[in-house]
Formats: sequence, structure tokens, C-alpha cells
Amino acid sequence: METIEISPKSALQKFFGFSKFKGHQEAIIKNLLAGNHSFVIMPTGGGKSLCYQLPALMMEGTAVVVSPLIALMKNQVDSIRTFGSDDSVAHFLNSSLSKAEILKVKKNIMEGRTKLLYVAPESLTKQENIDFLTTIKVSFFAIDEAHCISEWGHDFRPEYRKLRPMIDRVGENVPIIALTATATPKVQLDIQKNLGMQDATLFKASFNRDNLFYEVRPKRDVVKEIVRFIKTKQGKSGIVYCLSRKKVEELAEVLRVNGIKALPYHAGLDASTRAKHQDMFLMEDADVIVATIAFGMGIDKPDVRYVIHHDIPKSLESYYQETGRGGRDGGEGHCLAFYSYKDVEKLEKFLNGKHVSEIEIGKQLLHEIVSFAETSMCRRKYLLHYFGEGFKEEDCGKMCDNCRNPREKTEGKDEVALLLEAILETKEKHKPSHIVSILLGELTSDVRTYKHNKLEVFGKGSESTDRFWNAVVRQTLVAGLIRKDIETYGVLFVTDKGREFLENPTSFMVLREHDYEGDNSDDDEDIITSKGGGVGFDEQLFQMLKDLRKTIAKQKNVPPFVVFQDPSLEDMAVQYPINIKELNNITGVGPGKAERFGQPFVDLISRYVEENNIERPDDLVIRSVANKSAAKVQIIQNIDRRLPLEAIGKAQGKNVDEVITELETIVSSGTRVNINYVIEDLLDEDNQEEIFDYFMGADSDSIVDAYKEFDGAYSEEELRLMRIKFMSEIAN
Ligand code: ADP
Ligand code: MG
Ligand code: ZN
Repeated sequence: METIEISPKSALQKFFGFSKFKGHQEAIIKNLLAGNHSFVIMPTGGGKSLCYQLPALMMEGTAVVVSPLIALMKNQVDSIRTFGSDDSVAHFLNSSLSKAEILKVKKNIMEGRTKLLYVAPESLTKQENIDFLTTIKVSFFAIDEAHCISEWGHDFRPEYRKLRPMIDRVGENVPIIALTATATPKVQLDIQKNLGMQDATLFKASFNRDNLFYEVRPKRDVVKEIVRFIKTKQGKSGIVYCLSRKKVEELAEVLRVNGIKALPYHAGLDASTRAKHQDMFLMEDADVIVATIAFGMGIDKPDVRYVIHHDIPKSLESYYQETGRGGRDGGEGHCLAFYSYKDVEKLEKFLNGKHVSEIEIGKQLLHEIVSFAETSMCRRKYLLHYFGEGFKEEDCGKMCDNCRNPREKTEGKDEVALLLEAILETKEKHKPSHIVSILLGELTSDVRTYKHNKLEVFGKGSESTDRFWNAVVRQTLVAGLIRKDIETYGVLFVTDKGREFLENPTSFMVLREHDYEGDNSDDDEDIITSKGGGVGFDEQLFQMLKDLRKTIAKQKNVPPFVVFQDPSLEDMAVQYPINIKELNNITGVGPGKAERFGQPFVDLISRYVEENNIERPDDLVIRSVANKSAAKVQIIQNIDRRLPLEAIGKAQGKNVDEVITELETIVSSGTRVNINYVIEDLLDEDNQEEIFDYFMGADSDSIVDAYKEFDGAYSEEELRLMRIKFMSEIAN
């Protein structure tokens, strides 16, 4: 292929069919063509790839592109090939290739046909590859996802730190272009230092995504909140991020039983399932993907309308990246995160056992996300400040929860001055937590060590809480009166603006912070398991329901337990269902039972609720997984097929006893099963009748009682199976 002597603009048209450059693309490309180093910081979806793909096609030689993931490389190579006439225009070199494939790649490069060579950082450290690259003409190096270089980034890759020496060995004076979607000032500096390109021209696009709405809610009843939220966005695409695979599976299941088309996605699923779920999401056969962070790199669905964080992410970078997948087409994108300090503690625990410096970094990053979650400032402004970008407006108007519902403000002029004095008096050498301790007058070990209790400012702010002081620190930071040191990440300095303020204090309104204390994050376990278990119930209503049950049982000529069992009544006395649909959500109640016996019960509850002014939990729409798991459905189907219980159990790794237990819950919630084929093998007709009659007249369905009654003539298993038959025929 020949070098093309045309302008970037016509090359854009020629190779990609685009008529205009996006953002800084043209300037970046020109800079690279001129042989300069470039550093590109551009949000996800901004069009970074084109910044190196286009010049690669225009320049002599082969551009070497370092990219962290094999999947990403493959996507990129495929997409660039669709623009070219010849597959050899782009190749990748990584551990997935065979010897023969590698030879072909090298041949194409030597023939000058390959303009782009994607490599994994590991491949670039291999001697034979380096040797090969020294023999060819490399047009430039592109380092994609360059934040992987920095330990302060959210996706550190140690191999990325070895790139510069490799590049030097391949050729001097080869331009480098580094690209990333997230870089705090700290990470930015790290990247430039490590790549030895402090002189690079910096191109930084605004990180402001003005179509995204940011919201943080306290983590209470999180699963219910999520179901309710998604219900308001019916038919729209969304992503829900969870930290653990287990949670991903559970939540996807809960969403499904609530009628939401959701699929799980995590690294524990095999590759084909992952690919299938991703495709279904892209093709809109599924509305929601519930995922760990494994999902998203390279995902390009433009109309994701909401991104939910079930758990707070471990850094603001992650949060920004993940929320950034919403609204890429410029349309609606609601970013909803659930925050509980407990989750932060969990994340801190994960850090245990890591290297000391890693722990330190991890804690700092967590501290930043906590500040973001707790702040009542404009979230957009806070986020942009974190990424080193000023936001000119006072706030974003109505595009974050804090702007939509502003918190109370109080005059904080004196407090801000006090904070600045404390920082100056301690010689600008300390982190926020220490400064706050001084202001509060706390005798911490650090305070003692430095004898900071002798300072003028010690204890001067003891009338306020540490929550308040942390708020003041955050807000003066964003206002630019103080700054955090980049190198030590956390030590506070007073800026010139801050010094001016001290000389001539002006009004400074401090926002009251959110109080998320007392929130719990374990609630969602409850909704799956709490059904009928242990929660305090309305005793009075429970008694009334029991009386009603007795009456109904008499009318229908069945024992009371056939109507509803105690756990069901207890659950009713918690949830107060007032119609049949709601009754279906009660533990042990299935549609069959609800229809057959339910009406008088919901009528009674309905009257009771009204007479006593009861505030019902308004979440009965939420179905728990417990009633209707796939395993149960399979058992029912296999009973219909008249499979032996052993075989049914085997299919699910259960023994016969466990299968019977499953059957008991199935029938007690009102589903009929016909197990005559099982019973026929065990008991003759007379025996069956005898047991059946016993249950008909019994006060309770207790197996122990039955066993005693028959003096051990029937085995426990026989009795249980007969009880299943009985419940099926009489109750359901
Ligand atoms: P990033 O790597 O910054 O996240 P990509 O390079 O994947 O973004 O580009 C995102 C999308 O923007 C791609 O679909 C790409 O084809 C498109 N794109 C890039 N540049 C342009 C342009 N100048 N005009 C139109 N579309 C563009
Ligand atoms: Mg990219
Ligand atoms: Zn705002």
C-alpha cells in the first residue's frame, strides 16, 4: 500500500465515510502526523480509536497499537477491516494466535500491507516480537486505555508500566499517542511520566455528559427500589451493576420473576453464554443486563437509558466509566447509585492482604467515592472537579438529584477561615482527617505525636460535627480555596485564592450534607428469604385470620391447615394483601389457593386496614424468587412425566428426601401434583384411605402426630407422600 498524500479530512471521508471530525480529532491527527507525542483524554464514545486509525492509514509503515483486552483488539481489527479493501490492513498479535497465523501477520507487515498492528502489552515484552519490530518501519505507537499504566487508575495493569523501554528498543523518535477515557490529574501525570512524554501535546475533551442525570439514594430496600425504578422505564434498555456474581444472578432472577426481561452477565459464565446475553441485549431481546464490571468494555449500545449501581463502585473513575455507558446517543441517561457505608467497609476488607501501597491507594479512591455519595453539592460539578475540570456554572440546574432538591445552606464564612488557618498552622503537611481532628479537638495519636493540641485552632470547631467539617473540606476544595496534593494524594494546601479569602473573607454558603447513617445494605437478602420468616407480624390481625380460617375450613369441610398454613397467615399479617393478586405474593400461597380460599381473607384484611388506618408496605408488586424457582418448575414437569423420585432428584443433585421437601412447598403454595404413581408402589388402597382419612380429621398436618397415631405402622416418607397427595386433592 502506498502512503496517501491527502488531507485528514478527505482521508476521513475516504476510509470511514464520515463527513466531519468529532471534537478534537482533527487537531490530534495533525499533531500525530507532524511527529509529536500526543496525550488524548476523551470520554467513552468520544471517538478515540479514529485518532490513531486514520493517521495509521495515512502514514508510511505500521502503527503499533497497545490494547489491554483480546476481545477489544478483535473488535477493532474487525471494524477497521470493514473499511478497508484488504484484510491484511489490520492484524493483531497476541497469545490467541497459532504459529502459522503469526507467520502470516509478519509476512503481511513486511510486505507493507499492514497499517495497524494491535498487540497486548504482554506480547510487546516478548523478545522475538521486539526483534521483529526493530526490522520494520513503525509509524507510531498508540497506547489505548492508557490509564492502565497508573496504579491510581481504576484498572491497573503492571505490564503497561514496561512499555517505554520496549518502545525505545524498537525505535527512537517514534511518536507516541496515549489515549484514555478517564484520568484524574494524578493519573494523567503518572501516564506521562511513565511513558516519558511530559512534552506531549495534551488534548482533553470535556468530561461533562450533560444529558446524564446523576442520583444517589441511600441503600434501603434496594431490590424493591430497583424493581420499582425499572418498572417506570418499561421497554427501555438499562444496565444494573453489582459487585458480586452471586448478587448478579440473584437480582437477574428477581427482575425476571417480576416480569422484567433481564439477563445476568459476569466472568463466571462461559464465553458463549456471555456472548449470547450481550447479543440479546444489543438486539433488544432483553431490556436489562445485570452485570459485574466484566460487562461494558467495548459495548456500544447508544440508547442505554439508565445505569444502576446496586453497590457503590470502588472508585469515582469506575463510576464515571460505568455511568458513561448511559445515553451515548445524547438522549436520556439516568444514573442511579445506591450507597451505604457498609458497602464501603466491605470494599475495604477486600483490600486486606494486598500490598501496603495498594491498600493506601484503594482507601483513597474509596474515600473519594464516599465523598461523592455523601455530598449535597451539585454532583456534576463535583465529578468534573475530580477529573480536573472546572464547571463554570454555579451548578447543573436540574440534572442531578442535589440540584433538583437542594439541601439547606448555612453561612460558613468563619468555618472556612478556621479550616484554612488549621491547614496553614500545620504547615500544609496533613490530610483532611487529621485537620478535622484538630478542629474538633480530638486527641488522636497523630495529634499527640505532632503536639497539635497546642495549636491555636485546636478544638475551635468542636461545636460542629465531623460530618459538617468534612463537608466544609469538600466544598472549599471544589471552590478552589484549597487543593489536594497530587503526589501524596491527600495532603491539603491553601491556594492563592484561599489566601485571598483569609485576608478578606466573603460569604461562603455551606451545604448540609446527606445523612446516610443507619442505612443498611443487607436488606435485599431479606426480600428473598424473609417471606414468613421471623418478621414481627400484626398479632391482632393474625388471630382474626386464624378464626376466619377455622370458619372457612368448617364450611369447606377440610382441616384448617388445608386452607392456609400458619406461615402464610403470619405473612399476611405483615404484608396486608387486599386483593387476590397481592395475596399471590404471600409465602405459601399460589394462584390456585388464592383463588380457592383467598377472597374472604383479603376482604377481612381490607376492612382491617381501613378501620385501623394501617399504612401498608407499598411494595407488594415485588415478587420474591422463593415461590417459583426453575428447580421447582422442573420438578413439577418431571412429576408429570412420572419419573421416579430418585431420578428427579438426581437431575438436581438432590436426594429423595429433598425432593419430597420441595414437593411439600409446591403443594402448600397451592399447586397440584399427582404423585399417585409413586404412592401406588408403596401403599395399597386400604392403607392410602386410612391415612387420607386421618389427615381429613386431624387438627394439624404434623407428621410426628401422624406417626404416633399409627404407632409407626407407616414410615415417615409414606406419611409425607400421602400428605402431599392429600393437600393436592383437598386443598388445591
Ligand atoms: P472511544 O474509544 O473514545 O470510546 P470509539 O473510538 O469506540 O470511542 O468511537 C465511538 C463511536 O464513534 C464509534 O462508533 C465510531 O465509529 C464513532 N465515530 C468516531 N469518530 C467519528 C466521526 N468523526 N464521525 C462520526 N462517528 C464517529
Ligand atoms: Mg476506545
Ligand atoms: Zn447538579
